Amino acid sequence: MPNIRRGLLIALTVTLTLCLLDWSVVLADPEHNNLTDTTTPEATSAGTEPLTLGELRRKYSETFKFRGPEVKQVALTFDDVPDPRFTPRVLDELKKQGVKATFFIVGSRAKKHPELVRRIQREGHVIGNHSFSHPLFKNRSVAQFQSEIQRTERIIQSIVGYKPKLIRPPYGEINEEQVKWAKKNGYKIVNWNVDSLDWKGINKEQVKENVLSAVVPGSIVLQHAGGGVGSTLNGSIEAIPEIIQTLRKRGYHFVSLTELLQTKKYK
Ligand SMILES: [Zn+2]
Repeated sequence: MPNIRRGLLIALTVTLTLCLLDWSVVLADPEHNNLTDTTTPEATSAGTEPLTLGELRRKYSETFKFRGPEVKQVALTFDDVPDPRFTPRVLDELKKQGVKATFFIVGSRAKKHPELVRRIQREGHVIGNHSFSHPLFKNRSVAQFQSEIQRTERIIQSIVGYKPKLIRPPYGEINEEQVKWAKKNGYKIVNWNVDSLDWKGINKEQVKENVLSAVVPGSIVLQHAGGGVGSTLNGSIEAIPEIIQTLRKRGYHFVSLTELLQTKKYK
């Protein structure tokens, strides 16, 4: 057991580090500097440990979701969009299979490619908020969280006409004050229970294995339709039709997050 736990810890650390490295390349863009250099640690009450993500999900179960009810439904979600290299190909695959999914939009990318956000909307998918500059929110203030969310929702509203109710924090990381703010302001925080690990550039078979071995009724699957400089999502995109066909054979229906969680897509 200790070996397994240590292995998991190393894998998690490597994952987070690579993920951050990946985005640090993207965020070298000077447009982002004022947002990335102003980190101020969140004040926590003396002597109390911050709640873990699992504890936050339990304490704020109506606001903070990572899966749906145990019915034979599954929701595909795609982060870090829009990206002209990958988003159109993901949309093509979903259209061929007749599946509606959920896309989490990065505000700085939406500003550059509004036509892709419009296409996501036009093809019947649900849009969620994935921050403006993809920061690690855990150690940031509520004010910074609020600013990233509201800046992105103004951009999304100007393109598709609504402010998304669904927020996915980058890396799935968030702290209690931020969850409280989201609750007070009528948002839902939505993570996932099935991680494809597609951002690593793994092949189609590996993506299929990661998803198909983990899906249970009510699952929320994490994939990406956008990436950092030099990254590839070919394996993830090629896996889409086979993931959908295999799960349909197992009796699953594909739904958007708003249908799975029985909530609205707008605030
Ligand atoms: Zn992301």
